[in-house]
This record gives sequence, C-alpha cells and structure tokens, in this order.
Amino acid sequence: MQGAVSQGTRSVWPGWPGRWAMWSAARPRWIAYAVTCETVAAGAMVFALATGFGGAVRPVWFAALVALGIAQAEMSRRIERLRRWMSGQTHINVTSVWYLAGAVLLPPGWVALLAVVLYVHLWLRVWRHVRSRPAHRFAASTAWAMLSCFAASASLTVAGIDNAPLETWSGVGALVLAAVVFELVNIALVAAGIYLYTSKPSLADLIGTREDNAFELATLCLGGLVALALVVQPVLIVCAIAPLLLLHRYLLLKQQLQVAAVTDEKTGLLNTAGWHKRANREFARARRRGTGGFAVLMIDLDHFKRINDTYGHLTGDDVLAEVAVAITGSVRACDTVGRFGGEEFVVLLPAVGGVDVLGIAERIRATVGTLNVVISSGAGTVRIGELSVSIGVAHYPGAGDTLDCVLRAADEALYRAKDAGRNRVAL
Ligand code: GH3
Ligand code: MG
Ligand code: MG
Repeated sequence: MQGAVSQGTRSVWPGWPGRWAMWSAARPRWIAYAVTCETVAAGAMVFALATGFGGAVRPVWFAALVALGIAQAEMSRRIERLRRWMSGQTHINVTSVWYLAGAVLLPPGWVALLAVVLYVHLWLRVWRHVRSRPAHRFAASTAWAMLSCFAASASLTVAGIDNAPLETWSGVGALVLAAVVFELVNIALVAAGIYLYTSKPSLADLIGTREDNAFELATLCLGGLVALALVVQPVLIVCAIAPLLLLHRYLLLKQQLQVAAVTDEKTGLLNTAGWHKRANREFARARRRGTGGFAVLMIDLDHFKRINDTYGHLTGDDVLAEVAVAITGSVRACDTVGRFGGEEFVVLLPAVGGVDVLGIAERIRATVGTLNVVISSGAGTVRIGELSVSIGVAHYPGAGDTLDCVLRAADEALYRAKDAGRNRVAL
C-alpha cells in the first residue's frame, strides 16, 4: 500500500473505507448485494468451523488441496494475468477444480476456508496487478465462491452422503450432487452480481456462453477425478494437473483469437468487423431505450497519399497510429472508435445531441491539426505536422432508422467536406 494521501490538512490512508473505489465505481444496489453475500459467507464459514458442522476435517486433505491449488495457480500465473487483463470474463474460473474436490472431501466450513485461501493467493499473485479487477469485485467473487462451495458441501451433509466412499455409487451420487449444486449456486450468484453491476446485460453476459459452461463442466469433471485420486492414490493427481494447465492455456488462446479477430493491428483500434459488432449492440440499446440518439463520425485524413509518397509507407503507418491515439483521446471512453481500413476512421458516439457532436468533431479536427509526429529511424528524424482531417457527421434518428443509413449519411457528409476544400466538418 502506498503512503498516506494528504487531504486538506488531514492525512488519509488510501485503504481507508471512505476512499474505496467501490463507492464511485459500483451502484448502491450492487454494493448492498455484495456486502450481504460477504457477510453471509464469512458468518456461515465461522459458524461451521466453530460448531464442527458436517463432521471432522481430514487435515491432510485440506492441506493437499491448498497446496495443489497454489501450485496450479503459480504454474499458470502468467496465463491468468494475461487472461484477466484481456477480458472481464467472470464465468470461467479454473480453480473450481479444487472446490469440487473440497466439497466432497471436506466439511462445509473447511471448503469455504479453502476458497478464501486460494482466492487470497490469486489476489496477491494476479488480480492485484490487473487494473480492471478492483478489490471490491475480488471480495465479491470470493464470497460467491465461498457460498457455492459451502452450498455444495452442505448439500451432501443434508443428503446424508457426505461420507459416502467415492468408489461406490453413493460416492458418484455425491460427486454429481456437489457439482450440480456448486454450478447452479455459482451461476445464480454471479448472474445476480452482473445484473446489479451492469446496465442491460445480455443473457450470455449473465450466465456465460454455452462454451463457457462447457469449459466449467470440464473443470468440474477434473475436480471429481482429483477427489477420487486423493482418496485412492494421491500420486494420480499429477494426471489431472497436466490437462488442467492445457485447459487454461486453451482459454487464453481462445481469448487472444477473439481479440485478434476484431482488432486492427496497425492502430489497435477495432477493425471493420469489430466496430460493426459493437456499433450494432449500441444501436440496439439506443433503440430499446427510445431516448436520445447517437451519432456517427466518418473521419478521413486529407492528402494522406502525399505522406506515403514523401516519407514511405512505414512512416505513413506511424502517422495512422498517432492519429488513432489523437482521435481516441478526443472522445469519451464509452465511444466506439474503429479503423475502416486505409486512412479512414469511424466513431460511434452514443447519447449525444446534434450540437454536442459538432463540438466533438471540431475537437478531433483541431487535435489532429496540432499533431506533430516525430519519427526516428536509422536515416535520421523526421517531423510531420500540418495534418488535417475531413469529418462527416450523421445523427440517429435524423439521418435514418438503421445503422447502415446513418453510416451512409456520414459517408456522404464526408464527401461534401472533401468537396468543400477538406479540413472541415460537414453534417
Ligand atoms: P483525400 O484528401 O482525398 O482523402 O486524399 P488521400 O490521399 O488521403 O486519399 P486517397 O484515397 O487518394 O489515398 C489514400 C491513401 O492511403 C492511399 C494509400 O496508399 C494509403 N493507405 C491506405 N492504407 C494504408 C495503410 O495501411 N498504411 C499506409 N501507410 N497507407 C495506407
Ligand atoms: Mg484521405
Ligand atoms: Mg480515404
């Protein structure tokens, strides 16, 4: 934790509850839900541990699951960091393998404690370094995992099969029951959290895609095998670790492919396909709400061919990247910026009025005008300034009632801006 932050005359420790990012980042309804889950999870765990609910623990199984969970997290730390950094996917968590094994082998309080230990380790080694994973979301995820573990383990106690030998049919029943309860409770808790955190999430946002759930099922199957191995022959656990690491790597590869498919590699902006995908979602949302509209800006660099002809294509590419940064820096985080190939950019601005959008377009034009791109190479340094863009603006619903109509109108406006002499905005 960094040193104290001075606030007026007082010094305030950054970890002080009054300074938590949660208050500004999350809605009150989410905060109420998360704090309730955290209180119930901690209370249930302490109660179960104190009363010995569910019977005695086999310390060696608890220790083995903690050690395995930490070892697996350490082995795949780099993958997990990249994965968490690339996406906010909440549904897929490879650590469930240890929770299912814990649910059938440990009493409820102890499996909740297992979740706490593994989550704290994950926080210290991965999440803490990922900006998009603030502490309040980590705390809530921990509580949801604890409650899912607790419910899975407690369901076996209630059904009277918590001590069933795993190699018998009642043992198989215990594994299936624990997996089903863990999965259903986890999906419900996470979906409620996402519903309260996000505005208008889709069904896939809430419960995950079919593939996410297939992945979770594969993880739970491995969890069952881990439990069986621990009981029968612990050395066999090695056979579960290798597929688990491979599953984890597959998850990262899948995410990397998904990102690459929608990203323009020269500028890092969305490519045409990625922009359309996001823009269609925004368009559907604007229609659903029926309020306000959105605007589309078509931006084209003026006389860009001259830059290529004078300095070469590689320098032209550097200029495109700088212009992309300038455009992104001139709009809001919720605006969707893409590159439609060549020297043509497009921006979708949700919930803006006609007057505001002209102001934003002018701001982009002015920012590009002040750009001074410095490019150093073996042949020396070149400075490229006096760049300009022409911008076509169209507004929904004024310009038409489909995204395609609005894009077409923005494109026509762009051509008018070019015809009128370039370096200007046309509506
Ligand atoms: P205007 O003001 O009419 O838009 O003139 P312009 O020169 O910008 O437009 P024109 O369409 O004549 O030329 C676009 C140029 O953009 C031609 C092409 O070489 C260049 N270009 C397209 N894609 C890329 C790219 O990825 N990198 C580089 N460096 N240049 C590109
Ligand atoms: Mg051009
Ligand atoms: Mg062009």
